[in-house]
Amino acid sequence: MMTNKIEPQPGIMEIDLYVGGASKVDGVSDVVKLSSNENPYGPGDAAKEAYARAVHDLHRYPSTDHAELREAIAAHHGLDPARIICGVGSDEVLQFLCQSFAGPGDEVLFTEHGFGMYRILAHASGATPVEVKEKDRVTDVDALIAGMSEKTKLVFIANPNNPTGTMIGGNEVARLADSLPEGAILVLDGAYAEYVQGFDGGAALVEARSNVVMTRTFSKIYGLGGLRIGWGYGPQEIIDVLTRVRQPFNLSNGQLAAATAAMNDQAHVARSRRENTRLRDWLRNALAEHGVPSDPSFGNFILARFADTEEAQACDAFLRARGLLVRQVAGYNLPHCLRITIGDEPSCRRVAHAIGQFKAGDEA
Ligand SMILES: *Cc1c(COP(=O)(O)O)cnc(C)c1O
Repeated sequence: MMTNKIEPQPGIMEIDLYVGGASKVDGVSDVVKLSSNENPYGPGDAAKEAYARAVHDLHRYPSTDHAELREAIAAHHGLDPARIICGVGSDEVLQFLCQSFAGPGDEVLFTEHGFGMYRILAHASGATPVEVKEKDRVTDVDALIAGMSEKTKLVFIANPNNPTGTMIGGNEVARLADSLPEGAILVLDGAYAEYVQGFDGGAALVEARSNVVMTRTFSKIYGLGGLRIGWGYGPQEIIDVLTRVRQPFNLSNGQLAAATAAMNDQAHVARSRRENTRLRDWLRNALAEHGVPSDPSFGNFILARFADTEEAQACDAFLRARGLLVRQVAGYNLPHCLRITIGDEPSCRRVAHAIGQFKAGDEA
């Protein structure tokens, strides 16, 4: 405990710091980063040019209402712009939700392989994180329902989920929404929604319910993870609450300009989705041929399964020594797995080849 009776708010000291994907290997210059689910092609030219132009406005405070960006999002997705809120990554929107709706004595529900920020943000607002089982690495709606109580204030699921890559259907999500206790909100984290052709991320369910919020990000398919922009869509009453805790200038001119241009450049999104689907299928098959199975993934990564923790760690070290960085997911209760982001074609070939070498040496 700290001295002088200086003590942080309840929950803060329970937080285990978020560990991001590795980006460097000592002594290796030609590193391939497949550890953070980034778009290997980066953002499109329109977003980059818009960001560059924003340099002329550095002395100007940004818009407080993000009207232009919200209009662009609404136009593309067919949503009501008044019910969109923009944040510093979708993580910030998740933070607004926890800060606004969960505190000491309240529970925040998520699944055993759910995104690490859910636990961190629950603790940060003094609430109690509650983790329920999945079924063979798939969100289990029955387990979530069984985990609910009158203390439940927020239920987080990512669909598709990270790091499993699996997804549940619209009927299951609707059943979850219908089972919420009074006063609870279902949050549909759609960080990977764009990788599923034709999927609305849960927007229609948001429209149909008073207790469902969807979050989306520019960090994944839009290739803007370094810039930090995300958004949420929900019932007007909930968005109005979140807007009260949002800082008026949370997004800079550069963030707003790049995100608006990116939203209006759907050709780049379509291209990225197409390449991801092609290479994801290819990589999954290539690893399976090397004796490394994975579930069909709906995101821009696959979760490779190894015989045990030891083999997963040995493979990670083998890859790392060759400059290939993938993600250890022991912190997600998956110590026998490695999450591999779908890179460009040369990266996918390199990682598949190296895993083949590892397995050949392993079994020889
Ligand atoms: C990457 C990711 C996010 C997005 O985070 P940002 O703050 O928008 O960069 C949110 N949820 C999940 C499940 C993710 O994997």
